[in-house]
Amino acid sequence: MASHRAHRYLGAMSEADPATPIAPAPAKARKPDWIRVKAPTSVGFAETRKLMRRLNLATVCEEAACPNIGECWTKKHATVMILGDTCTRACAFCNVKTGMPRAVDPLEPEHVAVAAAELGLEHIVITSVDRDDLPDGGASQFVKVIEALRRNTPSTTIEILTPDFRNKSEKAVEAIVTARPDVYNHNLETVPRLYPTIRPGARYYASLRLLESVKRHDPSIFTKSGVMVGLGEERLEVHQVMDDMRSADIDFLTMGQYLQPTPRHAKVLDFVTPQAFNAYAAIARAKGFLLVAASPLTRSSYHAGDDFAKLRAAREAKLGMSVKRPETAKG
Ligand code: SF4
Repeated sequence: MASHRAHRYLGAMSEADPATPIAPAPAKARKPDWIRVKAPTSVGFAETRKLMRRLNLATVCEEAACPNIGECWTKKHATVMILGDTCTRACAFCNVKTGMPRAVDPLEPEHVAVAAAELGLEHIVITSVDRDDLPDGGASQFVKVIEALRRNTPSTTIEILTPDFRNKSEKAVEAIVTARPDVYNHNLETVPRLYPTIRPGARYYASLRLLESVKRHDPSIFTKSGVMVGLGEERLEVHQVMDDMRSADIDFLTMGQYLQPTPRHAKVLDFVTPQAFNAYAAIARAKGFLLVAASPLTRSSYHAGDDFAKLRAAREAKLGMSVKRPETAKG
């Protein structure tokens, strides 16, 4: 599933100041103040949970132990996780359980549409577990969910966050892109050097190619990808990932702090400061992304609806610029 070390501690280290010495890690990594979030206790939180239970829908918010659940669910923004709650992979950062998943629920697409309608969602994010056991990796269920949403809540804009569809991505992407989601997200998660330990079932360049092929099939679909920091990546490695993403014409970059969901998962090696996130964001913007969201608590689906509006506005502004450019040249 999509997603989050204590040998180095970047507490006061700024991206703008790479010469700052790295302090030794504390014996046990404590979360810095900028990571703390409020416990989820609101009425909106309780209602969102009740609805998801009634419709038998899983959410990545709960399964991945997302720190933003209190804020998002209070606003009734939940990210539905289709194709069950059991993943066929075991990534070192992800809290979703691993095992042999159950049969695909044929009622799930309609249930997702009912949830979108009852929550009054203007923008919905749909993700899934990896389903390497299915012949199409689960692509047809994404298509059915998109179709059910278009039928039932036509004004809801749709963002999908898919797995890599290992060895099946060409057909899977073609089918999903034909169903025309508004945003296609697939997370690179980390730098290529860390794939063997953090994302062992996946291949960095296969994920990049998947995103590139979305644009090739339909350039009007926004593409989005995210990385977690704090897993031991180096600053220049992150910059290289940004360059690779731009080469694949990815529109929107998200960056957030990796948090260790349980002691069995990969350790947090660095807590990256908010200032360092700002520095990463400035570099990413300079590299040409239409939109960048980078902060300790940024997650793929955090503020996704607001960000979708910004994406559209950024594209319109860019197109306006490219239309105006010849006139400016004439003048
Ligand atoms: S950031 Fe995304 S996964 Fe986390 S609670 Fe919000 S909607 Fe759910």
